[in-house]
Amino acid sequence: MARGIPLLVTTPIFYANAAPHVGHAYTGIASDVIARCWRQQDRKTFLLTGTDEHGQKVADTAAKAGVTPQAFVDQQAKVFEHVFRKLDIGFDRFIRTTEPDHIAGVQEFLQKLKAATTPLGRPAVYQGEYSGLYCQGCERFYTEKELVDGKCPLHNTVPQQLVEHNWFFRLADYLPIIQKAIAKNELKLIPTTTKQEVLGFFKQGVQDFSISRERVRWGVPLPWDPTQTAYVWVDALPNYLTGVGFGKDAKHARNWWRGDVVHVMARDILKFHAVYWPALLLAVGEPMPSTIVAHGFFTVNGQKMSKSIGNVVDPVDLIAKYGVDGTRYLLLTPFPFGQDGDLPVERFTERYNADLANGLGNLVSRTTNMVERYANGVVKLAKAPKSLAKTRKLTETFQFSQALADIWATVTWANQAIDKARPWDLAKGEHATDAKKLAALLAELVAQLKEIAVAITPYLPETGATLTKCLRQKKIVKAPPLFQRVV
Ligand SMILES: [Zn+2]
Repeated sequence: MARGIPLLVTTPIFYANAAPHVGHAYTGIASDVIARCWRQQDRKTFLLTGTDEHGQKVADTAAKAGVTPQAFVDQQAKVFEHVFRKLDIGFDRFIRTTEPDHIAGVQEFLQKLKAATTPLGRPAVYQGEYSGLYCQGCERFYTEKELVDGKCPLHNTVPQQLVEHNWFFRLADYLPIIQKAIAKNELKLIPTTTKQEVLGFFKQGVQDFSISRERVRWGVPLPWDPTQTAYVWVDALPNYLTGVGFGKDAKHARNWWRGDVVHVMARDILKFHAVYWPALLLAVGEPMPSTIVAHGFFTVNGQKMSKSIGNVVDPVDLIAKYGVDGTRYLLLTPFPFGQDGDLPVERFTERYNADLANGLGNLVSRTTNMVERYANGVVKLAKAPKSLAKTRKLTETFQFSQALADIWATVTWANQAIDKARPWDLAKGEHATDAKKLAALLAELVAQLKEIAVAITPYLPETGATLTKCLRQKKIVKAPPLFQRVV
């Protein structure tokens, strides 16, 4: 990534049909860590998140609840925004697809698409009839090949046969360009398993897709055919453009959408982002995103998360128990970002107490206490014994659990260094060199803590800020506990 160029980081917009769960929190926190890491280096960074509020499923859920779709999504968007704020996700905009500027932007996007000619000189949009197997839950058609035992692989339900008059996007004409861009890493897919998965889609064959729906009313009408509503994905994906001003403020949009874009998401929506979206962008003459990062799925205590098992993790419950930074830490540490893994929720308390309360919390508390007591709050400038410069590289390359493991190895090292040096004995001054040793030790510990504060800030923003403030004082005093022990 070119460091001087503004960076747009996005989460997917989340489907307003249900309440936010730990998966949404996970994507949001990861995106926030990336944005904070770059902001820390003074790079102009825009973090975009929001809610996807159109489509049949939303209309159905609202009807069941006995409210209008608009009233329903107004409520849902509030819940999502509230949870994201609570998680300290520092977004620059929370976009909602029912907002007028988004709707106008999508219509402009669609008009451009309608006017576009493919690289093979054909109209990018054409009218056709679609007969296919449609999963109501996914709001998409499936090919026979994609089904598992004739059922939707995600919902395990038999899709219905449906015939519609739709407008289609001539995806086929753009596929070679996208495939090449992915192969050459001009469109980077991270991790490498993601790249393999997407290249696999091309091998299986990707079909043109319909960009409108006849049956769905809750959505954006096609500007040239109001009998049709924009397909929910063709309404949702352009949020990445409208969110920064496309259709409203061209200058602002161009500033943020110039190719240095990181889309973060869970793997299940990879095809839409890595194949459909770049093709749509090519058609309307916009640059492709530079990077798509997909994370895996997780189990909870070794089991698939599901309502029927009753093990759905609510991020709000986690915050109540472990605090915001504790929650962020516990979610990002168990397994490498990008892979499938397990959230060992039953061991979260143990981990929180060991790493945060006893680990970092204790290190900060004992170090600042000793600096106050033995050095009157003042230490000399020193070099941190352990450099954490490379954790930033790990963060920039989405290796969050590795970065945190490196930081915490240093925390452990520092705590052991204190135990070994026994500063409380040095303070008694039985030997001539004790005072010198003590002063050097305290200076190094403070320098190390400053380095730790910088490294943790993208991950634990509040803790990072508190620690930085505490170490920046002219006279350091004993810090209040950073983490309360949890029982
Ligand atoms: Zn489905």
